[in-house]
Amino acid sequence: MVWNRTKRPLWLRCTVGALLALSATALRLQFLGVLELREAFLTFFPAVALAALYGGFFAGMAATLASGVFANLFFIESVGRFSITNSADMASMTVFLSSCVLVSYMAEAAYRALVRAHKAEEESRLAAGREKAALELQESERRYRELVQNANSAIIRWKHDGTITFFNEYAEAFFGYGAEEVLGKNVSILVPPQESTGTDLSGLVRDIVDNPARYSNYANENVRKDGSRAWMAWTNRPIFDENGQLQEILAIGCDITERRLAMEKVRTQNAILETINLIFHNALTCETEEQLGATCLKAAEELTGSKYGFIGEYNRNGRLYDIAISDPAWEACAMYGQSGHRGRPVSFKIHGLYGRVLTNGRSLLTNTPESHPDSIGTPPGHPPLTAFLGVPLVHDGKVMGIIGLASREGGYGLEQLLAVEAIAPAILEALMRKRTELTLNRSEARLKLLSETASQLLASPDPQAIVEKLCRQVMQHLDCQAFFNYLAVAAEGKLFLNACAGIPEEEARKIEWLDYGVAVCGCAAQAGKRIVAEDICNTPDIRTDLVKSYGIQAYACHPLESQGKTIGTLSFGTKTRTHFSAEDLSLMKTVADQVATAMEKIILIDELRNSRDELEMRVRERTAQLERSNKALQDFVSIASHDLQEPLRKVTTFGDMLKQRCHGPLGEQGNGYLDRMLDANRRMQSLLTALLEYSRLTTRADPFTKTDLADVVDGVLSDLEVKIEMTGGEVQVGKLPVIEADPTQMRQLFQNLIGNALKFHREDKKPVIKVSASAAGANLFQIVIEDNGIGIDGEHVGRIFAPFQRLHGRSSPYEGTGMGLAICKKIVERHGGGIRAESTRGKGSLFIVDLPARQPKR
Ligand code: ADP
Repeated sequence: MVWNRTKRPLWLRCTVGALLALSATALRLQFLGVLELREAFLTFFPAVALAALYGGFFAGMAATLASGVFANLFFIESVGRFSITNSADMASMTVFLSSCVLVSYMAEAAYRALVRAHKAEEESRLAAGREKAALELQESERRYRELVQNANSAIIRWKHDGTITFFNEYAEAFFGYGAEEVLGKNVSILVPPQESTGTDLSGLVRDIVDNPARYSNYANENVRKDGSRAWMAWTNRPIFDENGQLQEILAIGCDITERRLAMEKVRTQNAILETINLIFHNALTCETEEQLGATCLKAAEELTGSKYGFIGEYNRNGRLYDIAISDPAWEACAMYGQSGHRGRPVSFKIHGLYGRVLTNGRSLLTNTPESHPDSIGTPPGHPPLTAFLGVPLVHDGKVMGIIGLASREGGYGLEQLLAVEAIAPAILEALMRKRTELTLNRSEARLKLLSETASQLLASPDPQAIVEKLCRQVMQHLDCQAFFNYLAVAAEGKLFLNACAGIPEEEARKIEWLDYGVAVCGCAAQAGKRIVAEDICNTPDIRTDLVKSYGIQAYACHPLESQGKTIGTLSFGTKTRTHFSAEDLSLMKTVADQVATAMEKIILIDELRNSRDELEMRVRERTAQLERSNKALQDFVSIASHDLQEPLRKVTTFGDMLKQRCHGPLGEQGNGYLDRMLDANRRMQSLLTALLEYSRLTTRADPFTKTDLADVVDGVLSDLEVKIEMTGGEVQVGKLPVIEADPTQMRQLFQNLIGNALKFHREDKKPVIKVSASAAGANLFQIVIEDNGIGIDGEHVGRIFAPFQRLHGRSSPYEGTGMGLAICKKIVERHGGGIRAESTRGKGSLFIVDLPARQPKR
């Protein structure tokens, strides 16, 4: 604004006034001639007015003074001098000066008026602004208060000494206190001394004041007026005064109880899952049921924060047998070493708190176990139970056992109960799986042991000698420390100790011979019955005195039976337990049976060996005898057939001579007798020739060589050419093999077979003979000679291969000696083959010859 001269200093305003007067002078001097203006101050009025407008009164006065001087100097009469010589000029000057003072004064006054008006306006604007701001402030304060009061969070301010100075409505509703109740009180009334998780909160308020930064975001448990607890997430802001001294803490808190509970639930679920995982993992890694039980129990104790615990199961007697008892429980009470899993297995009566769980099949939780109606107290030395949680182990709706936990600090709640109920099936499953696995392993080991002992006993030529080694193995498997194997010695009428283990040698020597009816073994042998002596320490049975003296607590003696006789006994004894399981006894019986079988085998083998030796000897004798008589027979046949030839020839010669020379005197009847005699003689000759031929088949045989049967058959056919022609027959020969054989005998074979086929042809049919061969094995050919001749009655087929067997009488047209097929059979048998015939009367015959391709090396 032109009026606003606050930033223009006085000297500047006066100088500008003077310069404006100078400018007016210069302007007038410039335009003097043109304007022809005579009035000395004419052009100075605008300059003064401008200066006054610009700089106010003093600038106007500076311009006026300068204008007066310049007008005097340059435009009043005596130009160039400073003098007013006339009154008119004087008057002009006066008018001019006073006008200028007036103008300057008015300009100043106008300026001031404007400034004042401007200020007033400014002030009124400011006042309006202030009013608005105050209203806005009021509004925002109202809103803030509303916000703070209606906030969905507890807002509390408290002084460094803990005194509450502000408590919003939410905090009132949340904590159950009216603001007036808590204002001025210590904030620690909202903080429990200890969180339910166990964290100590007694110094929390002091700590927040000392270390506000650490608690800027912090979650802790709070307590309401009614004593109930709630989890709050707090934002704690320190408020400092101008000196940096902590004045107050502004705490804004949100209820996170539900979130916390949800988190807690997730955490619990996770812990349960992890525990279940661990249980199944342990099931894989633990070697024994006891180990697994212990780890499962530990997991359950850790999950619930229990001090003591146990896992038990119903045993066969309907009592509770403990699988695992936590270590602290044993260490804490004086029962250590008395019973339970550290000592002998102990069964408990079903009563008390755990009995209630087992009989009801439902979980039981009590934080005042002593006063529970089912309480039976604790055994002497047992530490007091501050709380008890029992969950049944149920399988297929049947209560199998219990997991019992005790003395959790702060007692048990639903959370622990649900957690244990969640893991209980996993524990039972893992234990049952382990038991199945162990049973399987045991029965596998048992089977292995039994099959090994059986095979070793049976394979051993002297089972008696390996009984000791095998029984040691069985003994170890059964966790026994002694075994005794007695054998009956019939000659002595006593039992002899064949093998034993578990007693010193000198003791063994003392019982080397045992009378029947003495001690357990002697009695078992005498009665031929098993004797099982258990809990020997507490038995009055005197038969057990001997084994009792060795420290044996359970003893089982099985008789070794062979063919209804007791051949000995096998017994096992244990020093570590008082009873045998049914499984143990059955294993012992099986082993005893195996040992008996092996010994029986030996007895039988011995008997067999003796009788076999005798038999072999007799066979050898008989064979030699047979060979001798066979040889004699062959020699006889050979000699007889050879030597008889000569007298026969003579009979023929003299017969012929008689016929020729005495034909007449003999008469018709005599000639008839002579003819019949000569005929019989010829037959006798051919019979003898055939017999000789037959006997020479073995005595004068050629060695085996490669023989082409095709060549053999060719030769035979050429020999039979006339016969073939005479009968008008036809012989069809297929492919025949080369075999290792005696060529002469082969020729004889085919000669006889083809010859017979031609001979026994039907009158009404021309003979057609087929010779063929096929492979019948790796080293065997089957040669078939088939004809369409008269055939053979089925009932006679079997006998035609025997010597001198003919199916036709002499009156028949078929000549023959009945030796042809017998020779064939002998030839084929010499070659290691066989011959048979298939035929039906009137329908032709089939002669099947099996011959090996190669002969065995001799
Ligand atoms: P033979 O031919 O000298 O009578 P064989 O030992 O060769 O003596 O034959 C015994 C008997 O078997 C013959 O008498 C004959 O009855 C019968 N036989 C042999 N071969 C044939 C054949 N191919 N067809 C019918 N019968 C036969």
